[in-house]
Amino acid sequence: MKKIALLFLVAFVFYMCGSVPITGRQQLMLVSDQEVLTLSLQEYDNYIKTAPKSSDKNATALVVKVGAKIAQAVEAYYKVTGIESLLAGYSWEFNLIEDPQVNAFCMPGGKIVVYTGILPYTQDETGLAVVLGHEVGHAIAKHANERMSQQMAIQMGGTAVGSLLNKTSSTVQTIGSTVYGLGAQVGVMLPFSRKQELEADHLGLVLMALAGYQPEAAIPFWQRMSQQGGSKIEFLSTHPSDNMRISEIRKEIPEALEYYNAVKGTTTPAGNTKKAASSEEWHF
Ligand SMILES: [Zn+2]
Repeated sequence: MKKIALLFLVAFVFYMCGSVPITGRQQLMLVSDQEVLTLSLQEYDNYIKTAPKSSDKNATALVVKVGAKIAQAVEAYYKVTGIESLLAGYSWEFNLIEDPQVNAFCMPGGKIVVYTGILPYTQDETGLAVVLGHEVGHAIAKHANERMSQQMAIQMGGTAVGSLLNKTSSTVQTIGSTVYGLGAQVGVMLPFSRKQELEADHLGLVLMALAGYQPEAAIPFWQRMSQQGGSKIEFLSTHPSDNMRISEIRKEIPEALEYYNAVKGTTTPAGNTKKAASSEEWHF
């Protein structure tokens, strides 16, 4: 695994890299936002045209309201920290779709879909903020770009990746084909995607806090989910085990509470924002 980490590190230097706001994690980015958005917006449009919208007006309005609060909080945070260009091309949409599956998902550019099947678990506005915070977390961390980039590195191998970026040096091609070979053997996709899920949890806590929702609500939400548990719940099947997830969330709560207290005006976030954010700058 060390070798793979090293190769990815070298790949960062030769190719493109990015880092996730808030968590600061470095990520491999071979695909531009524009490319990902062009592909995914078509897919999203096709899906949303035919997806059955919930007829529950109140629940739909709540999804839109909580989503908008979180999106506004993200935008305000990005503005204060001077990184608003990272959201270029984003256009937030929050939908409630009639579907008994306990699930929610996010497509690039801020297109979020919640299934009615998850509402018995979210229970209230704050519970919904846990799910929407998590999904918006995937969107701002550009996890789809990252996954696509990883897939390209794994499946296409060095030559294709090298030529994609007009870098045809043999070094680049060697690195690319080594990544391809190792990746195919050990399946680098799986650990990355788990990492992304946990990162979305982490980001979700901070984002719900920035939107004025008490982040500690994430724990009872995940406990409710785990009580039903197992493969019956689609949302859980793609996520790490609940005990591990809840214990990670517990560790991240103090950080999220700093943001929460900052937006509530009781304190200022300590060292988390590049530019000091006074409580007057946070109006939600
Ligand atoms: Zn997720």
